[in-house]
Amino acid sequence: MGIPEPIRHSRLMDGIDQAISIKYNNLVYELKATGHDIVTLSLGEAFFDVPAPDFAGFDTAQLHHYSHSRGLPELRRRLAKYYEDQFGLPVDPDHELLVTAGSKAAIYMALLATVEPGDEVVVLEPFWLSYPAQVRLCRGKPVMVPHDVSVFDLERYVTPRTRAIIINNPNNPSGWVYSEAELTFLHELADRHGLLLVGDEAYNEFVTPETKFVTCGAADPEKLHTITVNSMSKNYGISGWRIGYLIAHRNLVDQILKVNQHLVTCAPTILACYLAERFDELIEHTRPQIQQTVAMRNEVAGWLAEEGIATLPGSATFYLFASLGSSTLGSDEFATRLLRESGVCVVPGIAYGDSCDRHIRISVGTESPERIRRGIAAIRRLIDATKG
Ligand code: PMP
Repeated sequence: MGIPEPIRHSRLMDGIDQAISIKYNNLVYELKATGHDIVTLSLGEAFFDVPAPDFAGFDTAQLHHYSHSRGLPELRRRLAKYYEDQFGLPVDPDHELLVTAGSKAAIYMALLATVEPGDEVVVLEPFWLSYPAQVRLCRGKPVMVPHDVSVFDLERYVTPRTRAIIINNPNNPSGWVYSEAELTFLHELADRHGLLLVGDEAYNEFVTPETKFVTCGAADPEKLHTITVNSMSKNYGISGWRIGYLIAHRNLVDQILKVNQHLVTCAPTILACYLAERFDELIEHTRPQIQQTVAMRNEVAGWLAEEGIATLPGSATFYLFASLGSSTLGSDEFATRLLRESGVCVVPGIAYGDSCDRHIRISVGTESPERIRRGIAAIRRLIDATKG
């Protein structure tokens, strides 16, 4: 006898897939649990040495409870100052900034507060895989732009139904950092068509010293059409703490705040208190590690090139989006075989859009250089073994 069926789920869920990257990472956990040694080039984070939080001296009565649903005032002040000092974007911490449980939630709340059912949201491939799913959860329609389309050609994807454009700067998985000219063009496009521009800047610290990072919000200091989203997850190496934030016009923040109040109440108070107190100290601690990771990323780009494996242009983050070259396999089959035959885990490009099925994402944030080299050798061997 089969398991009895529960009540039917909503039709909305039929249009939502599981995150492919998480599917692969679950496979890694299962294989590791059965004693396999897996070269893990699939994780969406870099492992840093971060000191364990020490709460001595904190007011414990405050730590254990709900806190301000806009975010702890002191943490908001720190974050506003960060954007002002780093990128010259003035931010009013009392009205223009909202802290919540991770930037994933922040992006979703921002979309929920702005997208009408049936509205189109333009997402650029390779996209971060939650963007289309989140647009669908808001009953909007993601409009995908293939990876080889220039930002300057985006206008042809704008229709009377277009409501927003989401960009990820720097980009996961390519490592691309948007130029000032590209951002200016996007702002002009947003202005011309009355669109919202959402800039996801979760990896903003992961740029080389030579790269000029421009925040998406810089060209729109009044925040008339821009929502800037960021996170402590990657820059501080604390993805499990679940603290992210957004910067927007005060009227929009007031709307998004309602969603936050009804969905999560507030970001984890205990961690927000700790972050507010140790804000500068913690980022000073991770910055050198971030720089080492970015340098490693660019060294690995060289190793891939030596092996004849091309990557999409980019120099930031800890990801590389590598071409499958002459292999005839689709990216999902390639990644599955690579894992089963060589114990090397990458994320198939198809997770980042249909135009990306000839690529795989390689993350260099959690493995040693020797093991990354082993991974690259296995990728090369599988490409050769599956040539057309
Ligand atoms: N944006 C991008 C581009 C990401 O890669 C991630 C996490 N992988 C997030 C947002 C979400 O990060 P978090 O919810 O941990 O802040």
